[in-house]
Amino acid sequence: WTARDASTVWHPFTQHANWTEDRPVVVDRAEGPWLIDVDGRRYLDGVSSLWTTTLGHGHPDINAAITAQLAKLDHSTFLGTTHTPGIELSEALIDLAPKSDGPPLTKVFYAGDGSSAVEAALKIAYQYSTQTGRSRPKFVRLDHAYHGDTLGAVAVGGHDLFHQAYKPLLLDTIGVSSPGDRALGADRYAVALADLRAVMEASGDQVCAIIVEPMIQGAAGMLDYDADYLRTARELADAHGALLIFDEVATGFGRTGKMWAAEHAGVVPDLLTCGKGITGGYLPLSAVLAAEHVYEAFLTRPGDTAPRTFFHGHTYTANPLCCAAALANLRVMGEQDVVGQAVRLGERLTKLLEPVGAKDGVVEIRQLGTMIGVEVAPVGERTGFAVCQAARERGVWLRPLGDTVVLMPPLTLGDDETDLLVNALTEAVDEVVG
Ligand code: PMP
Repeated sequence: WTARDASTVWHPFTQHANWTEDRPVVVDRAEGPWLIDVDGRRYLDGVSSLWTTTLGHGHPDINAAITAQLAKLDHSTFLGTTHTPGIELSEALIDLAPKSDGPPLTKVFYAGDGSSAVEAALKIAYQYSTQTGRSRPKFVRLDHAYHGDTLGAVAVGGHDLFHQAYKPLLLDTIGVSSPGDRALGADRYAVALADLRAVMEASGDQVCAIIVEPMIQGAAGMLDYDADYLRTARELADAHGALLIFDEVATGFGRTGKMWAAEHAGVVPDLLTCGKGITGGYLPLSAVLAAEHVYEAFLTRPGDTAPRTFFHGHTYTANPLCCAAALANLRVMGEQDVVGQAVRLGERLTKLLEPVGAKDGVVEIRQLGTMIGVEVAPVGERTGFAVCQAARERGVWLRPLGDTVVLMPPLTLGDDETDLLVNALTEAVDEVVG
């Protein structure tokens, strides 16, 4: 299988020429928090299959929901028809959406994955600006941000490497300092706020939206930051007539110990993107939750010379199997207080990881709920990768982000497996940087 994979498969975000020891494991099946390869080797899935499988693999309720939906309706386009799982899921998402004193999120626009939800949100924000009378071509984005790999999402990301690769094709953006950026020093939060303020004061009238990963920049290596930043971003967006977009693709659905990271700050954005954990990680689905005033700008009015349609929507938008999986996931999350379980798991991990954080080879542990980054001091070229390899030899599956080793386990991980996860990480750290 490995040889056949190498001969025809082009893997994402992978340096194929460097493949020696890090050839992909050929996964055959999965159960609960375990991945099992074609040779029967078991790995504890410490990153929930790229941050998605919040309830673990093979949950009977989600499996049953998909099977039941399959027997009824496999697919039907959402362009011109609708279906009950899509309607019910919209209602459930709006019910669950973060709330504050400000305008609520009232409408759901479905997409297929995190990147395409971000892409839709960016297009909505720009078109909102044109349809409310001003064309505002600029987006404010944070340094180090990751919002996906489609062109718009790359443009509002904060990775120089990706920008260099696609530069002429990207949107017009203004980069601002990230409040999570440790390189800014102890005052990082004040520096980032001053930067955002200055940018909005100078160019706010050209900005259609500010986009942020609320509370923690995941793919940047788990750069957590203060909730006040989001409150100020809300104020500045309002003061300058820009929209605020929260990208909750990674943080949504209990991951940070609340249903939404927005709840840590008590701030509701105009647009909220979500994906990953929405179906419990079973099928690809994502969504943009929009405030009513945004939706209303897309309603054609008497006297309009052209329709105000949102020109966007994919073949598989709101696929019924995906919606059924998401509904089952949300039901289980409610019935079993999965967010409460995530809080307890996060607290247990904080305690167990304390001795790891005290090691000389560990620079910092950053955590919000069950989003955890263990930054190790580099020794040689790919230190984070080497730690993950050492954990893999101990039966634990992790993925590095540079020199930061990420832990994003299923929210329902049991105590024994949590111990195994931390023990393997501890031994791996000792082996590589100890
Ligand atoms: N936004 C954020 C915050 C993410 O973390 C990710 C994926 N890591 C994405 C968007 C892109 O999602 P996808 O890979 O499903 O396109």
